[in-house]
Amino acid sequence: MTESNEKIERLVRELLVELGEDPEREGLVSTPKRVAAALRYLTSGYQSDVEKLINQACFEQETTSMVVVKDIEVYSLCEHHMLPFYGRCHIGYIPRGRVFGISKLARLVDMYARRLQIQERLTEQIAYAIKDSINADGVGVMIEARHLCMMMRGVEKQNSMFVTSSVLGVFRTNPPTREEFLSIINRRRPDM
Ligand code: ZN
Repeated sequence: MTESNEKIERLVRELLVELGEDPEREGLVSTPKRVAAALRYLTSGYQSDVEKLINQACFEQETTSMVVVKDIEVYSLCEHHMLPFYGRCHIGYIPRGRVFGISKLARLVDMYARRLQIQERLTEQIAYAIKDSINADGVGVMIEARHLCMMMRGVEKQNSMFVTSSVLGVFRTNPPTREEFLSIINRRRPDM
């Protein structure tokens, strides 16, 4: 780990020079170290063990009512520019005897978000991981996010929100189930 961080640090130092900066000036001396550590953390999802997380996350519960967890914070990096995109993820599923611990859903989101991603793939990976791990009857995942690569550069659309959704099982085949999920996640708290 330390050894490979050294290589990233060296590359960041070179990048600073290439951008016209002086990596020896006071404010930048420790920047390569910080950037390397930040990038390791923000891509730590590559190192996490999906199976292990899922095994610890699921437990038996006799219910077939829809479970919805709204507003899970998402921070990821777009794979096209390595710039952040961030927003909220809403998850719904219909269990078939097994449920996912709520805090574990947030960890599952982080695990896939801490990689170089595109929002569409992130949304699908979360949906399939839930569907496959607890054999849910159906899963719906929606992510609403802002992309800094769009806000700070390029088209410079500061206020556009990018929305992606992935629906599996009964969320796909049964429109009333999908409607129920959408109406729950669209019901905003009064203070929002
Ligand atoms: Zn981008």
